[in-house]
Amino acid sequence: MGEKRIYDMIVVGGGPAGYTAALYAVRAGLDTLVLEKFSAGGQMGQTQVIDNYPGFEEGVNGFDLAERMRQQAERFGAKTIYAEVERADLAAFPKALQTSEGKFHARTVVIATGANPRELGVEEEAALVGRGVAYCAACDGMFYKGKTVAVVGGGNTAAEDALLLSRIAKKVIFIHRRDTLRAAKVYRDPLLRMENVEFHWNSRVERLLHQDNLTGAVLRDLNTGKRVSISCDGLFVSIGRKPATELVAGQLILDPGGYIQADETTRTSLPGVFAVGDVRTKPLRQVVTAVADGAVAVQMAEEYLAQLSEI
Ligand code: NAP
Repeated sequence: MGEKRIYDMIVVGGGPAGYTAALYAVRAGLDTLVLEKFSAGGQMGQTQVIDNYPGFEEGVNGFDLAERMRQQAERFGAKTIYAEVERADLAAFPKALQTSEGKFHARTVVIATGANPRELGVEEEAALVGRGVAYCAACDGMFYKGKTVAVVGGGNTAAEDALLLSRIAKKVIFIHRRDTLRAAKVYRDPLLRMENVEFHWNSRVERLLHQDNLTGAVLRDLNTGKRVSISCDGLFVSIGRKPATELVAGQLILDPGGYIQADETTRTSLPGVFAVGDVRTKPLRQVVTAVADGAVAVQMAEEYLAQLSEI
């Protein structure tokens, strides 16, 4: 496909930050294209219920909210092309994006690529995805109704996942490399009270056991070095996320955690390139903070475009 036209703004990634940027951009009269790999929503699109996004007193399904954000931006003229961005030349003018659907150009680029689940890094983990290893309890939990599952992690995601799974599965084996949870009290206390949750503290998953599907794991106690085998049908890896920055690595400055270095202005180390949502340095990665970034990025892009037209 590809296009000769030069957009005012190309947004890479159609999650809440990306579509908010698109909404504000088209409403500011900017010719705007969103490039999205699969479907709107990013990580939010895989969340069953979002209870902390204001305005939805009963909570809202993440996929539905994502679709509504897309439709809202498109109502004002934003265009979406489903394409994977393979290469970006962000220092060029106009900025160029090589995608699976051809090449696109823009005066400004908003990076809204989000963050993906972090992997455990044990042997055969990737091969067992879909055959016992999972990264999203809200998406895959129902496959383990009445079965035994393990959850690895110690933060809010792990605690929330374990609580959800404890209501679906017969038994949940919670594995954490420390002796205390990092999770907030609102998740921690109910989790510690669940009768069908068994805790393995100071433990690391050393090996996955399987035939065709996962059958269990070998855990190593980090204090004693002792190993135990557990039996489980599923193992949910809930150990945080890693930013999707492959596209910009070497072009934009990243922080020590690998996130794109950008402050509240969303400006990156390259003029005309903005980073919004979970992919940028920030203290709290939530839908509300992501959408705020989208709005700010457009304000900054307008300032940048105004300077360009003065040259
Ligand atoms: P997180 O807070 O970074 O916690 C990750 C957990 O996984 C930590 O306990 C960490 O252990 C452990 N871990 C990391 N790498 C590991 C490895 N290789 N092997 C074993 N364990 C490992 O991540 P998160 O829980 O996904 O949360 C991410 C952000 O989203 C947080 O800001 C969180 O508050 C937010 N969140 C909010 C909600 C909500 O408000 N409803 C829900 C979910 C997430 P250590 O403790 O040893 O570092």
